[in-house]
Amino acid sequence: MRGVRWITIQTADHGLIHVLCPDWCTSRHDHRPGYRSDILHTGPDHIAVFRGQDLALACLVQAPFADTAERRGIWVSSDDVGIELDPAGLDELAAVYVEYAAHLLQLSRQLTALRGEGQ
Ligand SMILES: [Zn+2]
Repeated sequence: MRGVRWITIQTADHGLIHVLCPDWCTSRHDHRPGYRSDILHTGPDHIAVFRGQDLALACLVQAPFADTAERRGIWVSSDDVGIELDPAGLDELAAVYVEYAAHLLQLSRQLTALRGEGQ
């Protein structure tokens, strides 16, 4: 966390603007000038890694000048499902992972038993 800070961004449609960046934002905001509505605050990546492979990634996002009120709010972007989630959606996704983890453990026990039978 960097703390709340003012940043200055060059935009194609509103010129140079000053934006209050929330304390959870870790974006450097050093991308090429674009539209003001494209400004995106992003939090640190939360990545599930298995043996060096990224399985899932999620982070806080907010587009403070977006056209819709939903995108002006704070969301979690989940790369594994490719959509932005509100708290209820994030809970729903987490429940799927918990259930999937239980299936993987069950599959592991089945595999252990099958390998035992084959020996
Ligand atoms: Zn920011």
